[in-house]
Formats: sequence, C-alpha cells, structure tokens
Amino acid sequence: MAKNLQERDGVGRVDGARTPEVAALMQDAVESGECPFCSPRFEETNGEWLIDFSDDPASVVWAGNWRVWHNPSSLPGTSHHIMVASTSHHTDFTDLFRNEETDFFMVIGSVIKKFGLDSGSLLCRFGERRYNSATVEHLHMHLIVSDRKPVLPESFTEHEIELMRSIEMLLPHQENILEELDELRELIDRYRAMKQGGKAIPIRAKLSNESQE
Ligand SMILES: [Zn+2]
Repeated sequence: MAKNLQERDGVGRVDGARTPEVAALMQDAVESGECPFCSPRFEETNGEWLIDFSDDPASVVWAGNWRVWHNPSSLPGTSHHIMVASTSHHTDFTDLFRNEETDFFMVIGSVIKKFGLDSGSLLCRFGERRYNSATVEHLHMHLIVSDRKPVLPESFTEHEIELMRSIEMLLPHQENILEELDELRELIDRYRAMKQGGKAIPIRAKLSNESQE
C-alpha cells in the first residue's frame, strides 16, 4: 500500500500534530517520505514511547504484527492514551492478514491486563486521512481511558474563565451550550471546508452526545 499512500498525498500532515513531539515525528516523515508508524526507525526514534510487554507471554504472539505505545500528546482528561498500529503498512481493515486480525484482539487484551483497565474507548482510524481526521495515514487505534478526576475551579486559569464567560454570552441558550457548540463547530467546519477550495467536512463526534451519561 506504500505506493498508493504516496499517490494519495504523502505520508501524513504536520499541521495535525497537537504537540512538538508529534510535529517533529511528522516533519521527519514528510522529509524522509517514510510512514512514521511502520518506519524501521520507529524503535530508534520513538523507543521511549513504546510500552514494555516483556512480562506478558501473549505478546510473543502479537509483537511481530502490532506495535503499542503511549501517545506523546495524550488527550486532556485521560489517564492512558495508548496507540496501537500494525507493524506492516496497512491503511484499511481489509488489508490485514488473518493472523494480524486475530492478534489484534490479543493486543487489546494485553493492554487491558497490563494497566488493569475496566473502562475505556477504542477509536480506529482507517482509509484516507483527509476524511478521518488522522495525522498519519496508517491503520491505527487510539485506546483512551478517563482519568476520572473531578474538574475543580483551581484547574482553570483566569483567561479560561474569561473565555468561557465570553462564549456563554455569545451562545443564547446557555443550558444547551454543548448543542450550540456543536452547531457552531459544524458551521466552522463547513465554512473552513468551503474556504479551502471545497474540501469534505471532517467527521467528528458530537460534544452533546459525548456528554450523555
Ligand atoms: Zn505505515
């Protein structure tokens, strides 16, 4: 699939990176033309992100097919933000070989056991990254776990409080703030897609759905 990847529009995007670590990874990928997730240099350049499963016998089975590491730009509110990607370059589920498919569930089991997880979310990005919000066009999963910490007033800066006051004034029905933000975000996405020469709209989960218990 590597050739196909180059034909689409390169290995990934630097502008999608949320932290300097990931921006550096993507800059290197763009310059070398190598996919960062299956680069033979992954261990050398990002070895400190990798999670050690040497105490898990199951990892002997899957380690050749899947790589697991801590996302260096973990999402806020997470205790774990773990990345899982095939060691071979694949972009779609249908590209996986049978042993890679079956090993995948072992990988997730190993991660769950290692960190004693009893709750989490698994998000998969596959196919063309211009439609799935991925930074790297290589089949991968984000395993995201809440840190379960309450959000207290001292976790806000004065600037953030001021910003929230402005947002609440801008939005007319404050009790439905997440629905209004969804509408606003959808408008921003549509407007930006139009401004960028008629791009497709990125698909996002709705804030108002995510907030439901
Ligand atoms: Zn790759």
